Amino acid sequence: MSLCLENLAIRKNDGEALFTAFNLTVEKGEIVTLMGPSGCGKSTLLDAIAGHLSQEFQYTGSIKLDGTPLDGQPAHKRQVGILFQDDLLFPHLTVWENLAFALPDSIKGTQRKEQAITALKEISLMSLADSFPDQISGGQRARIALTRMLLAKPKVALLDEPYSKLDKDLRQQFRTQVEDQLKEANIPALMVTHDEEDVPQGSRCITWPWEDNYAR
Ligand code: ADP
Ligand code: MG
Repeated sequence: MSLCLENLAIRKNDGEALFTAFNLTVEKGEIVTLMGPSGCGKSTLLDAIAGHLSQEFQYTGSIKLDGTPLDGQPAHKRQVGILFQDDLLFPHLTVWENLAFALPDSIKGTQRKEQAITALKEISLMSLADSFPDQISGGQRARIALTRMLLAKPKVALLDEPYSKLDKDLRQQFRTQVEDQLKEANIPALMVTHDEEDVPQGSRCITWPWEDNYAR
Protein backbone atom coordinates (compact mmCIF):
# COMPACT_ATOMS: atom_id res chain seq x y z
CA MET A 1 0.00 0.00 0.00
CA SER A 2 1.31 3.45 -0.87
CA LEU A 3 0.03 6.98 -1.22
CA CYS A 4 1.26 8.71 -4.32
CA LEU A 5 0.87 12.38 -5.19
CA GLU A 6 1.77 13.09 -8.79
CA ASN A 7 2.38 16.53 -10.12
CA LEU A 8 -0.16 17.91 -7.69
CA ALA A 9 -1.10 21.60 -7.79
CA ILE A 10 -3.81 23.33 -5.79
CA ARG A 11 -5.13 26.67 -6.95
CA LYS A 12 -7.71 29.07 -5.68
CA ASN A 13 -10.50 29.65 -8.18
CA ASP A 14 -9.00 33.04 -8.99
CA GLY A 15 -5.92 31.20 -10.25
CA GLU A 16 -3.52 31.86 -7.35
CA ALA A 17 -1.57 28.68 -6.61
CA LEU A 18 -0.92 27.36 -3.10
CA PHE A 19 1.67 25.05 -4.63
CA THR A 20 2.38 23.40 -7.97
CA ALA A 21 4.13 20.28 -9.20
CA PHE A 22 4.32 18.47 -5.89
CA ASN A 23 5.42 14.84 -6.13
CA LEU A 24 5.53 12.48 -3.20
CA THR A 25 5.25 8.78 -2.47
CA VAL A 26 4.57 7.56 1.06
CA GLU A 27 5.06 3.83 1.57
CA LYS A 28 3.11 1.68 4.02
CA GLY A 29 4.43 1.87 7.54
CA GLU A 30 6.06 5.20 6.76
CA ILE A 31 5.21 8.60 8.27
CA VAL A 32 6.20 11.53 6.09
CA THR A 33 6.00 15.02 7.57
CA LEU A 34 5.27 18.12 5.53
CA MET A 35 6.41 21.22 7.29
CA GLY A 36 5.18 24.65 6.39
CA PRO A 37 4.11 27.97 7.88
CA SER A 38 0.53 28.76 8.75
CA GLY A 39 -1.55 29.44 5.65
CA CYS A 40 0.74 27.68 3.15
CA GLY A 41 -1.89 25.09 2.29
CA LYS A 42 -1.26 22.12 4.59
CA SER A 43 -4.87 21.52 5.59
CA THR A 44 -6.04 22.21 2.05
CA LEU A 45 -3.72 19.50 0.73
CA LEU A 46 -5.14 17.01 3.23
CA ASP A 47 -8.67 18.06 2.22
CA ALA A 48 -7.82 17.25 -1.39
CA ILE A 49 -6.52 13.80 -0.47
CA ALA A 50 -9.50 13.05 1.77
CA GLY A 51 -11.93 14.16 -0.93
CA HIS A 52 -13.40 17.25 0.63
CA LEU A 53 -11.55 20.09 -0.96
CA SER A 54 -13.49 23.32 -0.47
CA GLN A 55 -15.30 24.81 -3.47
CA GLU A 56 -12.87 27.73 -3.30
CA PHE A 57 -10.08 25.50 -4.63
CA GLN A 58 -9.36 23.10 -7.41
CA TYR A 59 -6.48 20.77 -7.98
CA THR A 60 -4.67 19.23 -10.90
CA GLY A 61 -2.43 16.20 -10.95
CA SER A 62 -3.23 12.89 -9.41
CA ILE A 63 -3.69 11.30 -5.99
CA LYS A 64 -3.26 7.52 -5.99
CA LEU A 65 -3.65 4.90 -3.34
CA ASP A 66 -1.97 1.65 -4.21
CA GLY A 67 -1.83 2.76 -7.82
CA THR A 68 -5.58 3.49 -8.02
CA PRO A 69 -6.54 7.13 -8.61
CA LEU A 70 -8.75 8.56 -5.86
CA ASP A 71 -9.54 11.61 -7.92
CA GLY A 72 -13.12 10.74 -8.89
CA GLN A 73 -14.04 8.98 -5.67
CA PRO A 74 -16.32 10.54 -3.05
CA ALA A 75 -14.82 11.08 0.42
CA HIS A 76 -16.72 8.25 2.13
CA LYS A 77 -15.37 5.68 -0.31
CA ARG A 78 -11.72 6.65 -0.03
CA GLN A 79 -10.91 4.96 3.29
CA VAL A 80 -8.76 7.89 4.30
CA GLY A 81 -8.40 8.40 8.07
CA ILE A 82 -7.85 11.90 9.42
CA LEU A 83 -6.62 13.04 12.81
CA PHE A 84 -7.04 16.73 13.57
CA GLN A 85 -5.67 18.95 16.31
CA ASP A 86 -9.20 19.04 17.73
CA ASP A 87 -10.25 15.54 18.56
CA LEU A 88 -13.78 15.99 17.15
CA LEU A 89 -15.35 13.22 19.20
CA PHE A 90 -19.14 13.31 19.16
CA PRO A 91 -20.11 15.03 22.43
CA HIS A 92 -23.45 13.22 22.74
CA LEU A 93 -21.92 9.75 22.42
CA THR A 94 -19.98 7.93 25.14
CA VAL A 95 -16.39 6.92 24.58
CA TRP A 96 -17.28 3.37 23.50
CA GLU A 97 -20.07 4.64 21.28
CA ASN A 98 -17.64 7.05 19.61
CA LEU A 99 -15.37 4.10 18.85
CA ALA A 100 -18.19 1.81 17.70
CA PHE A 101 -19.38 4.53 15.34
CA ALA A 102 -16.12 4.31 13.40
CA LEU A 103 -16.19 0.55 12.86
CA PRO A 104 -16.74 -0.70 9.32
CA ASP A 105 -20.39 -1.52 8.45
CA SER A 106 -19.48 -5.17 8.06
CA ILE A 107 -19.25 -5.46 11.84
CA LYS A 108 -22.76 -5.99 13.17
CA GLY A 109 -24.79 -6.01 16.38
CA THR A 110 -23.15 -6.78 19.71
CA GLN A 111 -19.81 -7.22 17.92
CA ARG A 112 -19.63 -3.45 17.63
CA LYS A 113 -19.62 -2.83 21.36
CA GLU A 114 -17.27 -5.76 21.93
CA GLN A 115 -14.72 -4.44 19.44
CA ALA A 116 -14.95 -0.93 20.83
CA ILE A 117 -14.32 -2.26 24.34
CA THR A 118 -11.42 -4.42 23.13
CA ALA A 119 -9.84 -1.37 21.51
CA LEU A 120 -10.21 0.53 24.79
CA LYS A 121 -8.56 -2.28 26.71
CA GLU A 122 -5.62 -2.21 24.32
CA ILE A 123 -4.96 1.43 25.15
CA SER A 124 -5.68 0.85 28.86
CA LEU A 125 -8.66 3.22 28.88
CA MET A 126 -11.35 0.64 29.53
CA SER A 127 -12.53 2.56 32.61
CA LEU A 128 -13.65 5.43 30.39
CA ALA A 129 -16.04 3.37 28.26
CA ASP A 130 -19.22 5.00 29.57
CA SER A 131 -17.85 8.52 30.00
CA PHE A 132 -18.73 11.35 27.68
CA PRO A 133 -15.96 13.28 25.90
CA ASP A 134 -16.35 16.34 28.16
CA GLN A 135 -15.80 14.15 31.23
CA ILE A 136 -12.30 13.01 30.24
CA SER A 137 -8.99 14.82 29.79
CA GLY A 138 -7.67 16.32 26.56
CA GLY A 139 -4.93 13.70 26.42
CA GLN A 140 -7.44 10.90 26.81
CA ARG A 141 -9.63 12.39 24.11
CA ALA A 142 -6.65 12.55 21.78
CA ARG A 143 -5.93 8.86 22.33
CA ILE A 144 -9.57 7.92 21.76
CA ALA A 145 -9.59 9.97 18.54
CA LEU A 146 -6.46 8.17 17.32
CA THR A 147 -7.96 4.79 18.13
CA ARG A 148 -11.22 5.77 16.47
CA MET A 149 -9.42 6.73 13.28
CA LEU A 150 -7.60 3.40 13.13
CA LEU A 151 -10.67 1.29 13.98
CA ALA A 152 -12.18 2.41 10.68
CA LYS A 153 -9.35 0.49 8.98
CA PRO A 154 -8.21 3.36 6.78
CA LYS A 155 -5.84 2.70 3.89
CA VAL A 156 -3.96 5.89 4.61
CA ALA A 157 -3.73 8.21 7.63
CA LEU A 158 -3.60 11.99 7.43
CA LEU A 159 -2.57 13.96 10.49
CA ASP A 160 -3.22 17.68 10.65
CA GLU A 161 -1.09 19.23 13.41
CA PRO A 162 -2.26 16.41 15.66
CA TYR A 163 -0.33 17.52 18.75
CA SER A 164 -0.72 21.27 18.71
CA LYS A 165 -3.57 21.46 21.24
CA LEU A 166 -1.88 19.26 23.85
CA ASP A 167 0.33 20.60 26.60
CA LYS A 168 4.01 19.82 26.47
CA ASP A 169 4.25 16.67 28.61
CA LEU A 170 1.26 15.04 27.02
CA ARG A 171 2.49 15.97 23.60
CA GLN A 172 5.61 13.86 23.83
CA GLN A 173 3.63 10.93 25.17
CA PHE A 174 1.01 11.19 22.46
CA ARG A 175 3.62 11.46 19.71
CA THR A 176 4.98 8.09 20.77
CA GLN A 177 1.50 6.56 20.86
CA VAL A 178 0.68 7.88 17.40
CA GLU A 179 3.94 6.60 15.94
CA ASP A 180 3.54 3.17 17.57
CA GLN A 181 -0.07 2.72 16.50
CA LEU A 182 0.59 3.86 12.95
CA LYS A 183 3.48 1.45 12.70
CA GLU A 184 1.22 -1.33 13.87
CA ALA A 185 -1.48 -0.35 11.35
CA ASN A 186 1.23 -0.49 8.68
CA ILE A 187 -0.37 2.10 6.41
CA PRO A 188 1.17 5.17 4.77
CA ALA A 189 0.79 8.29 6.92
CA LEU A 190 1.16 11.92 5.94
CA MET A 191 1.48 14.48 8.71
CA VAL A 192 1.43 18.24 8.30
CA THR A 193 2.73 20.55 11.00
CA HIS A 194 4.69 23.70 11.66
CA ASP A 195 6.48 22.25 14.69
CA GLU A 196 9.83 20.57 13.99
CA GLU A 197 9.53 18.57 17.19
CA ASP A 198 6.61 16.67 15.69
CA VAL A 199 8.82 14.91 13.13
CA PRO A 200 9.31 11.24 14.10
CA GLN A 201 12.94 10.31 14.57
CA GLY A 202 14.62 8.99 11.47
CA SER A 203 11.65 9.74 9.23
CA ARG A 204 11.34 11.83 6.10
CA CYS A 205 10.46 15.49 6.47
CA ILE A 206 9.80 17.88 3.62
CA THR A 207 9.95 21.58 4.33
CA TRP A 208 8.13 24.32 2.50
CA PRO A 209 8.25 25.02 -0.39
CA TRP A 210 7.36 21.42 -1.18
CA GLU A 211 7.96 21.78 -4.91
CA ASP A 212 11.65 21.53 -4.15
CA ASN A 213 11.16 18.00 -2.90
CA TYR A 214 13.16 15.72 -5.15
CA ALA A 215 13.31 12.91 -2.61
CA ARG A 216 11.24 10.66 -4.88
P1 ADP B 1 -2.48 25.77 6.62
O1 ADP B 1 -3.24 24.53 7.00
O2 ADP B 1 -1.14 25.48 6.04
O3 ADP B 1 -2.38 26.75 7.74
P2 ADP B 1 -4.72 26.20 4.85
O4 ADP B 1 -4.64 25.01 3.94
O5 ADP B 1 -5.74 26.17 5.92
O6 ADP B 1 -3.27 26.49 5.43
O7 ADP B 1 -4.99 27.47 3.97
C1 ADP B 1 -4.24 27.79 2.82
C2 ADP B 1 -4.68 29.13 2.27
O8 ADP B 1 -6.00 29.04 1.78
C3 ADP B 1 -4.70 30.26 3.30
O9 ADP B 1 -4.31 31.42 2.64
C4 ADP B 1 -6.13 30.32 3.73
O10 ADP B 1 -6.46 31.61 4.15
C5 ADP B 1 -6.85 29.94 2.47
N1 ADP B 1 -8.10 29.23 2.72
C6 ADP B 1 -8.28 28.17 3.53
N2 ADP B 1 -9.55 27.71 3.49
C7 ADP B 1 -10.18 28.50 2.62
C8 ADP B 1 -11.52 28.57 2.12
N3 ADP B 1 -12.48 27.70 2.50
N4 ADP B 1 -11.81 29.54 1.23
C9 ADP B 1 -10.88 30.41 0.81
N5 ADP B 1 -9.62 30.42 1.23
C10 ADP B 1 -9.26 29.48 2.13
MG1 MG C 1 -4.07 23.96 8.83
